[in-house]
Amino acid sequence: MHIDPRKCVACGNCLAVCPVSAIYIDPVIRRATVNLDECVECYACQNRMSKEDLNPTLVRTIRGFFKLLRIRFDPEPDVCPTSAFAPQQLAWPRSIRQAFSDPCVPHESTGVYGRGTEEVKTNDVTNRVGPGEVGFTVEFGRPAVGARFREVQAVTMALARIGATFEKNNPVTALMPDPTTGAINPEVLDEKVLSAIVEVKTPEAMLPAVLRTVEEVAATLNTVVSVGVAVRCDGDGENRVEKALAGEGYPVFRGKTNLGLGRLSNLDAQATTAGAAGPAGR
Ligand code: SF4
Ligand code: SF4
Repeated sequence: MHIDPRKCVACGNCLAVCPVSAIYIDPVIRRATVNLDECVECYACQNRMSKEDLNPTLVRTIRGFFKLLRIRFDPEPDVCPTSAFAPQQLAWPRSIRQAFSDPCVPHESTGVYGRGTEEVKTNDVTNRVGPGEVGFTVEFGRPAVGARFREVQAVTMALARIGATFEKNNPVTALMPDPTTGAINPEVLDEKVLSAIVEVKTPEAMLPAVLRTVEEVAATLNTVVSVGVAVRCDGDGENRVEKALAGEGYPVFRGKTNLGLGRLSNLDAQATTAGAAGPAGR
């Protein structure tokens, strides 16, 4: 993202909108300026602020005159008064920043908006995590810190070394030439994004190894990392993983429960329902 210095009147409204604090008022040119190394191309400034087309010279003159009288003349806080944002055509690899940071743009690799993955929220129809397996989401950068793929790679390579399997339908996996190594395309390693989600799965017995690996590597990174654990419950709604998590010293609570209403992976229930209700029962 760029800001047109000919239009900006340095009102400062956009500073609070930027989730990674990439916008600052340059004291030399006295205009809002974007630190392009930190900007994750989320387009929050461009898309979330109202815009007016006031004449920049007029606004600066009025603001300067009022300042002499110790009176402030400021636009409404959610407005860029002179439509000064100037988005650029993003070339590879910088374009990856917008794909991972702007929720209005779908990921090319998965076609999914937002963070580019449905995670296990649709496990009843996608069957990503099967019986006896544990699914992990390892999220980097949220809230408001961001992450570079070099940091993501430190974890993905460590996970690959212990034998975790990466989810195919995930935009970070799509950046790996060979997912068995966890190595990410070197062209994007220095790109910064608002957040990225890595998804792996392992047999249940590997739960402690995955958690310790993520914890160890995360402690060396300059971003925030959070882990989600997904597991199938048995017919009584129970599972062994919660106990194992508690044994490892992690507080356990059920964040989201998928009731399996899609039924495609619940073949017994599907057959029963189809038998009772006929074809329309599905
Ligand atoms: S809101 Fe617009 S005019 Fe105000 S500082 Fe930001 S870019 Fe400049
Ligand atoms: S595009 Fe996003 S990260 Fe970049 S300056 Fe605008 S709000 Fe900040």
